Amino acid sequence: MATIAFIGLGNMGGPMAANLVKAGHRVQVFDLQPEAVSRAAGTGCIPETSATEVVKHAQVVISMLQSGRQVEGLYMTGPDPLFERMAPGTLVIDCSTIDAATAKATAQRATAHGLDFIDAPVSGGVAGAQAGTLTFIVGGSEDQFARAEPVLHQMGKNVFHAGSHGAGQMAKACNNMLLAVLMAGTCEALNMGINSGLDPKVLSEIIKQSSGNNWALQLYNPVPGVMEHVPAARGYRGGFQVNLMCKDLNIAMELSRDSGSPVPMGAAAKALFNLHQVAGHGEFDFSSLFRMFRQGGE
Ligand code: NAD
Repeated sequence: MATIAFIGLGNMGGPMAANLVKAGHRVQVFDLQPEAVSRAAGTGCIPETSATEVVKHAQVVISMLQSGRQVEGLYMTGPDPLFERMAPGTLVIDCSTIDAATAKATAQRATAHGLDFIDAPVSGGVAGAQAGTLTFIVGGSEDQFARAEPVLHQMGKNVFHAGSHGAGQMAKACNNMLLAVLMAGTCEALNMGINSGLDPKVLSEIIKQSSGNNWALQLYNPVPGVMEHVPAARGYRGGFQVNLMCKDLNIAMELSRDSGSPVPMGAAAKALFNLHQVAGHGEFDFSSLFRMFRQGGE
């Protein structure tokens, strides 16, 4: 069993760190928000008071932050860059969803410090983080992937090697752009059904058994009252913030430019989520986009 430092204990990081404790590791944790550190201490993690303290004696460092700028700041450009504090040979696994260029630059700098850095963004949502069934999408060398795989399997069910550094983030950007399209389409279709007098529960079951079936409908129904234990059942609190989906759609638009790929559906979804964000819903779960269709339909 290893000593693992876990930095970023939000909606995703908190339950991921808890699963590493259950697997028998010593898990030292830090977050800028003291409440998040206290919550993690309640699941058996060892609370630390700073990022520099948390990496002491750690063989593996895992980060789960919101953005590329936060990741750069933590490891390289902030007042106390963590890459300068870690012992050579440390495995650094960044699970945040960020742009591929930042992931590649961070990996290069890590190599210069004698560290092994991989990008390992996840899919599966908060429920997947809690259940330990996340999908990890890794960018890095074969050796680095082999080193990280066992620990990733303790937090997830599927662990993919997408390619070299940055490839994990590229694959994740493709996935989340499609997720945005599917969620927007699911909200749109269910709202049309409701406005036509259909019961959203019955309609959801019909589509789940038909050709419109998709992940949002199966596991993340956006209509309040249809499904338990999803953000729609608790006022769209928790889950995956609209702000984060907008960040991911910006990353996807950059990737479309860099790869010369037309993304009209992704661009339409981006416009919808941006409108929803500026209307004041940025901190709610992304399935709250349904509210936009309801307001439009009433
Ligand atoms: P969150 O905002 O709930 O958590 C992020 C945490 O990082 C916060 O608690 C924040 O205080 C902490 N943090 C930021 N900078 C820090 C620093 N320098 N040092 C220590 N702590 C710091 O976000 P989340 O929902 O957990 O998402 C995290 C990442 O995972 C994002 O990149 C997101 O896009 C991605 N993601 C989220 C979901 C989801 O369903 N929420 C699913 C897949 C991927």
